[in-house]
Amino acid sequence: AAEAEEPALTDGFQLVIDALKLNGISNLYAVPGIPISDLLRMAQAEGMRVISFRHEQNAGNAAAIAGFLTRKPGVAITVSAPGFLNGLTALANATTNCFPMILISGSSEREIVDLQQGDYEEMDQLAIAKPLCKAAFRVLHACDIGIGIARAIRAAVSGRPGGVYLDLPAKLFSQVMDAAEGKRSLVEVIDPAPAQLPAPSAVARALDVLKGAKRPLVILGKGAAYAQADDEIKAFIEKSGLPFLQMSMAKGLLPDTHPQSAGAARSHVLKESDVVLLVGARLNWLLSHGKGKSWGEPGSKKFIQIDIEPKEMDSNVEIVAPVVGDIGSCIAALLAGIDKGWTPPPQDWTAGIAAKRDGNVAKMAPKLMSNAVPMNFHGALGALRRVVQERPDAILVNEGANTLDLARGIIDMHKPRKRLDVGTWGVMGIGMGYAVAAAVETGLPVLAVEGDSAFGFSGMEVETICRYRLPVTIVIFNNNGIYRGTDVNPTGGEDASPMVFVPGARYDKMMEAFGGVGMHVTSPDELYRAVSEAMDSGKPTLINAVIDPAAGTESGNIGSLNPTSAVRKK
Ligand code: ADP
Ligand code: MG
Repeated sequence: AAEAEEPALTDGFQLVIDALKLNGISNLYAVPGIPISDLLRMAQAEGMRVISFRHEQNAGNAAAIAGFLTRKPGVAITVSAPGFLNGLTALANATTNCFPMILISGSSEREIVDLQQGDYEEMDQLAIAKPLCKAAFRVLHACDIGIGIARAIRAAVSGRPGGVYLDLPAKLFSQVMDAAEGKRSLVEVIDPAPAQLPAPSAVARALDVLKGAKRPLVILGKGAAYAQADDEIKAFIEKSGLPFLQMSMAKGLLPDTHPQSAGAARSHVLKESDVVLLVGARLNWLLSHGKGKSWGEPGSKKFIQIDIEPKEMDSNVEIVAPVVGDIGSCIAALLAGIDKGWTPPPQDWTAGIAAKRDGNVAKMAPKLMSNAVPMNFHGALGALRRVVQERPDAILVNEGANTLDLARGIIDMHKPRKRLDVGTWGVMGIGMGYAVAAAVETGLPVLAVEGDSAFGFSGMEVETICRYRLPVTIVIFNNNGIYRGTDVNPTGGEDASPMVFVPGARYDKMMEAFGGVGMHVTSPDELYRAVSEAMDSGKPTLINAVIDPAAGTESGNIGSLNPTSAVRKK
């Protein structure tokens, strides 16, 4: 006799995976442990790509940059309390940078946490996450997993993108429910980042201001790179003839070598322009808040701003023409406007910029050709500049102080979203997380150019890079320390200065320990050959590039941010 058929059941583990897959999320960046190990095992068994890291901050940074590159939220998964806190830094950083990501953390039992009875890894994670991200949700019932993940996805990518925290208590994963009902509870998010059209009156106002300009300038920010409106932006810039500046992660949106690029005449155009059109760039510290010495005479500027976030307008200075909407729609509207009648910017302005730019480029050129040993930053970066020029599709990850500031200026980018760096916070530690996700999401070769100090924050992930055999080439600019390697302990005591590391360290040996390729170079020519070979091989490689310990300046370009006191003045 046939037994009565058991109703098919599903559980929390399965529903989380089904909900993510239904919404096109196929990669997870994680560090396993209680209570999410089985979730990761099952996700892999179900065909998801699960990248397991050595520290949650790096998994979180990977998810964040996956979000920037794909416009889908990158998903990081961590254990409770300490794992969650480690991931939270990356979530806050993603939110600050307007990158869409979801941090999913397992958490301990609500009843015990709420009564503060001391559970394993007890922590009220939801409350802690809330002020540091765009939205935070907790799911207590398996039947709500579908809607919970849908909300998290929509919150991350709609409007101004950002980080979302999703709290999943351990008990949720083992909850069971009827499989058919579970399937019905899943939600496929329809149009997760809806177009937001600018008001026609706002577009008309912006065009009026732009047409009245004598010395106009466009500033493209990483919001413009994120928007993936590359063709519209190119058409607008080229049809209008407007000179443009690209913020760090917007570099390559148009080639840095474009005839209208004012990149090498930055201080000149910031000071002299009369109308500035901001496209997905905030007037924060990176643009001196839109005021002060670098912006020339007070009151000499009119700002037009395109941003999806209405609150961004007037955040630092008056915006005479706010255009609120998604960049693709806003630029398309401006383009339609200039098609109806437009006079290119005055010749004396554009010719002046070109002259300034060409002069600065010519001044820099001989420094970049130097093959001096020990290497200085310019000689080493001159070599890397050639490597990138020859491989315009490769993705450049960049962090450090001098290594960051000088690389940003020296290495031209040729295509959109190829430069990933420390972003709005200027944070150290994004290097290996970004490199891993860039390789996983795009399959393209990745070159990570790292200061020796910056590398230290995520260096253990070289094991991850080797384990997944990712096409990542890491170059360490090794000058034995932070900013420089020459500081000494003023007391003459045994301890080294807080600013220096073990001199002559061989970071390349770390890579060899995990089966990757290690190389050690001392001249720009050697560096060029080593990086070219590594990138062509596709093998995980770390190149220890010895830089003069005396090269480098305090805090790179932003030394002025160090507080100084009259008492301490030498
Ligand atoms: P950068 O550091 O390159 O200057 P920011 O991070 O300061 O760039 O600015 C990015 C801006 O882009 C943010 O204000 C954000 O709201 C905006 N943004 C992001 N995505 C879009 C989009 N799709 N449409 C319009 N604005 C966007
Ligand atoms: Mg250093």
